[in-house]
Amino acid sequence: MSEAPNWLVEGAPHVWRPYCQMKTAPAPLAVARTDGSRLILEDGRELVDGIASWWTACHGYNHPHIRDAVADQLARAPHVMFGGLAHEPAYRLARRLAALLPGDLDHVFFAESGSVSVEIAMKMALQYWINRGVSGRTRFLSFLGGYHGDTLATMTICDPEEGMHSLFAGVMPAQHVVALPTDAASEAGLRAYLAENAQEIAAIVVEPRVQGAGGMFFHDDEVLRTLRRVADDHDMLLIFDEIFTGFGRTGDLFACEGSGVVPDIVTLSKALTGGTLPLSAAIASARVFEAFWSDDPGAALMHGPTYMANPLACAAANASLDLFETGSWRADVARIEAGLRKGLEPCRTATGVVDVRVKGAIGVVEFATPVAVGALSQRFAEAGVWIRPMLNLIYLTPPFVVTDADLEQLTGAIRTVVVG
Ligand SMILES: *Cc1c(COP(=O)(O)O)cnc(C)c1O
Repeated sequence: MSEAPNWLVEGAPHVWRPYCQMKTAPAPLAVARTDGSRLILEDGRELVDGIASWWTACHGYNHPHIRDAVADQLARAPHVMFGGLAHEPAYRLARRLAALLPGDLDHVFFAESGSVSVEIAMKMALQYWINRGVSGRTRFLSFLGGYHGDTLATMTICDPEEGMHSLFAGVMPAQHVVALPTDAASEAGLRAYLAENAQEIAAIVVEPRVQGAGGMFFHDDEVLRTLRRVADDHDMLLIFDEIFTGFGRTGDLFACEGSGVVPDIVTLSKALTGGTLPLSAAIASARVFEAFWSDDPGAALMHGPTYMANPLACAAANASLDLFETGSWRADVARIEAGLRKGLEPCRTATGVVDVRVKGAIGVVEFATPVAVGALSQRFAEAGVWIRPMLNLIYLTPPFVVTDADLEQLTGAIRTVVVG
């Protein structure tokens, strides 16, 4: 291995890295460029990417169709403010997302990050009740194991540990964080809980099908049907956070579409631009939108991020949707699912492993205790793959274009580390 590049050495004292005790963490790997399913490092090594850059690069890196669309838009207009001005990439994207999403999820509010889109969905839900003249609906119901972002309001609806509720106790409002209703007993528990608390709950917030960053927990669509029923029975809104599950990851384009359960608001980000540029959206149903449609200026949603609906990001998202329209992702996700099942299954009986599970293009090896993220990432890099474990998990969420050989290299590296 060659020396770290100058820019890394000189910049390191000034860059505050994510999710990292910087004093003890190993140095980050210096990436020179990306291509397809590969990260190419400054020292010349090529790593097969098993994470798709936090689940964003679904079509692989530098896809020529997305790159051309962004270059074209860059020459035309990189950015204009969205207040009072409009541009074709955003209006076209909004129409396409509304057509792809089920039911009357037709009203698209753009932002720049996943967390902010969840904040906007929460704000929409709170003001929905205010605009309808209902007071006291000021809290949210969310679930153990859930993750909805790192900003202060989204932290309150994360799993209490994931959202660091004890560290920040007293700083933020307490929400209702309960067990997902995965069986008759937990559904009865939820109903009993709501008999006491429903009157102050504006909305239920859930990651449908897969709770991602909180632990890669899977649940059946029946859970989502239960939540829709419960929300309707207590007159609460239902928010699906599809920032991870959206755009094919679970085998359907969206979990809401695949499950047949239509929420009142859905949030999208991560793979929205195919991993090219930051963009997110909170998409509301007609019922929610109509609560803001009024002659009263006070009923408007007063929100507007500076880089809202950035034209470059919208051009990337439109190009990514073109690639989804070809439909080839479906066969790829099925192929990856089979490869993950076969490749990870031998880990099931290894020491310390408590579960191996696969859903769509998500493969998880769960351990009884937390894993050494830094040390394991280094071992994986030495084996030619980029895999970044989290919590007590080693997991794979590869780009959909990963080849069978590269997928085998990814699962093989995990088998070597886990089984020996
Ligand atoms: C990643 C993620 C977020 C936060 O998105 P950011 O862009 O990191 O702010 C929110 N919800 C879910 C389900 C996510 O996976």
